[in-house]
Amino acid sequence: MGLFERVFRGSDEMYFKAETEVNAVIAELGEDAPMTMPDTAYFLACIYAYLGKKITTLGELKAVLTDIRAMMTRENRTKSIFTSGIATAMAAEVIEACKYARTATPYEGTQYHGHFSDAEVRELGVPLVTRDIPGFVVMIGAAPSVEEAVETVKGYQSRGIFVFMIGGIIDQVHEAGVTTGFGVRCVPVGPDIWSVGHVISLVTRATMIFGATEPGDYDAFNEYTMQRIFAFVNAYAPVDDITVACGAGAIKMGFPVITNDTDDMWAVPKSLIINTNTKDWIDTSLEARDIKIKVTNIDIPVAFSSAYEGEIIRKKDMQIEMDGSRVDCVELVRTKEAHEIEDHSITLEGPDFDQFEVGAKIPIAYIVEVAGKTMQSDFEGVFERKFHSFLNCIEGVMHTGQRDMIRIRVSKASYEAGFRAKHIGEVLYAKIKSEYDTVVDKCQVKIYTDPEKVKELRAEANHIFDQRDERLKSMTDESVDVFYTCILCQAFSPSHVCIVTPERLGLCGAVSWLDAKATNELDPNGPCQIVTKTRMIDERTGRYEDVNEAVNQYSHGALEQVTLYSILEDPMTSCGCFECICGIEPLSNGVVIVNREHVGMTPLGMSFSEMASMTGGGVQTPGFMGHGKHFISSKKFLKAEGGPARIVWLPKALKEQIREKLNETAHELYGIDNFADMIADETITEDPEELLNFLTEQNHPVLGMDPLL
Ligand code: SF4
Ligand code: ZN
Repeated sequence: MGLFERVFRGSDEMYFKAETEVNAVIAELGEDAPMTMPDTAYFLACIYAYLGKKITTLGELKAVLTDIRAMMTRENRTKSIFTSGIATAMAAEVIEACKYARTATPYEGTQYHGHFSDAEVRELGVPLVTRDIPGFVVMIGAAPSVEEAVETVKGYQSRGIFVFMIGGIIDQVHEAGVTTGFGVRCVPVGPDIWSVGHVISLVTRATMIFGATEPGDYDAFNEYTMQRIFAFVNAYAPVDDITVACGAGAIKMGFPVITNDTDDMWAVPKSLIINTNTKDWIDTSLEARDIKIKVTNIDIPVAFSSAYEGEIIRKKDMQIEMDGSRVDCVELVRTKEAHEIEDHSITLEGPDFDQFEVGAKIPIAYIVEVAGKTMQSDFEGVFERKFHSFLNCIEGVMHTGQRDMIRIRVSKASYEAGFRAKHIGEVLYAKIKSEYDTVVDKCQVKIYTDPEKVKELRAEANHIFDQRDERLKSMTDESVDVFYTCILCQAFSPSHVCIVTPERLGLCGAVSWLDAKATNELDPNGPCQIVTKTRMIDERTGRYEDVNEAVNQYSHGALEQVTLYSILEDPMTSCGCFECICGIEPLSNGVVIVNREHVGMTPLGMSFSEMASMTGGGVQTPGFMGHGKHFISSKKFLKAEGGPARIVWLPKALKEQIREKLNETAHELYGIDNFADMIADETITEDPEELLNFLTEQNHPVLGMDPLL
């Protein structure tokens, strides 16, 4: 029959299934019924991306079938099998969408994830640019055995590869008790091949969000995914025609397909790879997509991978807990002289994990001592903040917080596998030595679980933290000589540049001025470059000739000027991974801020996703600005427009997180006490008129400020 014929038969099959589903749902709900996918501002993203059409009703969904069908030509040319492949992916999206037309949660109560929210897509931003997630695999069908399924999935996870599963393999890994979910980067998408529509939807949204690709620009989407999204497909035999047709689409997107099905398959170098030795697939796949993986060998009895970063350990699965809010706990980095350190020494003073009862809350202190000729004490806090991610990568270990407010849980499974206190030291040692090898020559870790000793160390550490905070506080945009660029996100947003200053951290929330400084010194040719600040043009908006030159240079001419402190006049650009988005609320003359975690509405009548979609991809959009959480309580926040006094609405949870600092800033800037209480949240109102009433009652300072627009 031949591969072409298989693609055409498969795309026919997907198309007719889509048509049947659309007719059925219209018979039930009517053509005027709304068609919305939950938590996205990109409609049916595949259709929006490839055809530029916004589907909002079932009638429109039916009409777009004609466009999809038109792409499924049966010409015997390579180009047409690829176009048919993309059309097949859109038909898959239509089939899945019909489920969402009936209910927003069609997969509730099943083992499947289904649709991805925009917040989930955006969450991938930072790990993708830092290469913590070096790529994605879409695994389709059942592996030859349960053991092999588990081995392959875990093999991908241990390399940081994000795993999407469709069909038989899902039952296999669940049968073996493997934990799955978005948090552990191993997602059971759906039972049928058409659930692949959700994966393509995620990919096309990533392209719009991070790449600012214009909906409808078919070629631009394929070019972006080919160049910047490191995905590939593993399709286990037997592969049916409909999956073959989806595979043609994947190849068009730049994603190689690896299969062990030999029936009428033609190998295409680097694109369609037939390898009957399924145990070799990981290597074959990574090579086909040119993915190189950096591995650090760490001597611990459990796995270590960024795949475990989002793992949650529930109380019933927990062996022991270190909880800084209940017992003394502290983590600290100290700079020492080389002779004071014995490299790779890991000591424990006090009882080990096996000397506590199950469920015990135990005190812990771990002090990482480092030495190096170019080590600076300013880097201590930078290293410390990485502990969170280092320890979270351990299988069966969950870490939250920092300093003396940490909380660590160790699972029963990892404890039974032999995980003990010294392994925390092994991980910290290995990661500090590998990530900071340019400044750290020697490193040792001292761990304490003796309550008296930990108490004493905690008090000492708090003294050090206070001194550090004093120094940080005294650091303002005026008091330093240079700012830094960060262009890490250019891997996905090619023209985006963050300018990082002491009072304005990167919009992802992960890069402070000190981080940028450390990054620059650790890797002088890396993403953070020095920006001088000798030629100020305008103090109010934070406009500098030096900054303009830098953004011009590092955006490769895409950006001519930015200000540091304005949302209206040449605001800084956004990539896609911002923690918060801020937008103007015209009725009150203020701004509304919403963070990524908030799922509800805002007084702008838009959710986070919708507001977020107003900006991104390194493009300037006056009136909307992505930013980090900590920027909100900065004295430089919207300084040009009057400062934080412009804030009229914040989600409650975010407000609580920043309350103390925000109140302090408002007190210093305006002499107002308890400013946070004057700001509305979702428990007060999501309506602009009511918001205005609330602000009037509160005598909110925004009411006396100049109009914004
Ligand atoms: Fe991306 Fe900006 Fe964060 Fe750097 S600081 S990682 S460019 S968002
Ligand atoms: Zn980014």
